[in-house]
Amino acid sequence: MSRDEDASSSTPPEVCVVADASRRPLVAHSDARTAPTARHQVQSAFPFGGGGSPSDPPLDELSRLLALVGLREPPCVPAARLDTTNRSAMERVAARLAGRARHAVVLRAEPADEGVAGLSKLGGAAWMAEGEAWPRCAQCGAPMAFLAQVDLGEACAAGVGAEASGVVPPVQGVLQVWCCNEGRCDTYQPHNGTQSLRIVPREELSCWQPWPAEGRGTLPVKMVTGWTLRTELLKQEEFERSEQLERSEDVAKVYEWLEENVEDTRSGQKVGGWPNWCQGVEYPACPECGEPMENVLLQLESEAVESVRFGDMGTAHATQCRNHANYQLAFGWACC
Ligand SMILES: [Zn+2]
Ligand SMILES: [Zn+2]
Repeated sequence: MSRDEDASSSTPPEVCVVADASRRPLVAHSDARTAPTARHQVQSAFPFGGGGSPSDPPLDELSRLLALVGLREPPCVPAARLDTTNRSAMERVAARLAGRARHAVVLRAEPADEGVAGLSKLGGAAWMAEGEAWPRCAQCGAPMAFLAQVDLGEACAAGVGAEASGVVPPVQGVLQVWCCNEGRCDTYQPHNGTQSLRIVPREELSCWQPWPAEGRGTLPVKMVTGWTLRTELLKQEEFERSEQLERSEDVAKVYEWLEENVEDTRSGQKVGGWPNWCQGVEYPACPECGEPMENVLLQLESEAVESVRFGDMGTAHATQCRNHANYQLAFGWACC
C-alpha cells in the first residue's frame, strides 16, 4: 500500500484554509506611508526561524508552508480545500519546499516627476557621468533604451540581502539596465551586446546627473515609491531540479494544489526572490567562472516600462554571479 492510499483510507479531518479576508501573507511593508491591505498585512511570525514572538506556538511543516504561501488553517472557509490526498502529499513535501523559500521585495512604481522619490525608477533618464557615451546595441548599432535604475541599498533595507533572499549580501550600489528596443535584435539572449548593465557605487552617482536618452528618446518614467517584502516559492521544475527529484507524485500534487488555490507569488517587478520563468529555468552562465548566475537583481515584466515588451508578454531578469558580485551581470528574457 502506498503512503497515499494509506492516508486516504484513514478518517480525514476536513481541512480548509483561508483564501481571502483573513488571509495573512507573510509580507511586511517597508513604506510606512502605505497602510497594509487585507492581502498585504504585516506578519510577525516570519517562517525562516527567528522572528515571531517566543510565545507563538511552533508551526508544523504543513502550517509553515501554508503560511508561506499566504494561507492558514483554521479557521475553515470553503474557498480553498486541502483534501486528504493533497494534505498527505503536502505534509511530505512541505519542509523541503518551505526550506527553499526566498524573500523578494516588490517595487511599487508610479508615474511621477523624475527625482521626486529617490533614485529608483523604471524608464526615465539614466544617471550618467559627464561626457559618458550612451550604450549602443552591438547587433543593430542603435542607442539602447534605458529600462531601469534601482538602488539596491533601498531594496536591501526593505528586506532583501538576508540569507533567504537568494541575493548574496551585501547588496549595494545602483543597478542600471539598458536594452535594445528596436524589435529586431536577439535581446532575450544574455551576453550578446544587445543589453548593458552595471552597478554604480551610490557615492559615485551623487556627482552624476540624469542624462537625456539618445535614439528614440527617454521612455516615460515611473518612480519607485515603495517596496513590499514577500516570501516566494520556486517553480515546480526548479524545485525538482534543486532537490534532484526525477518525478515525484507528491510534488506534482502539491504544485497542482498551489496553482489552484494560491495566487502566483513570483510575478511583478522585484528584487530578489525566485525568477518567475515563462519557460524553463534559464540562468545564464557566468562568463568568468561558468557558474549559473542565480542572484535575481531585478525582474521586469512586459510593459512595466512603456513600450518595452520582451516578446509576447515576456518576463526579463537581471542576474548576477555569486562569485563575481557587482560586475558579472546578465540580462535575458523569455516570452510566455
Ligand atoms: Zn539592436
Ligand atoms: Zn562568476
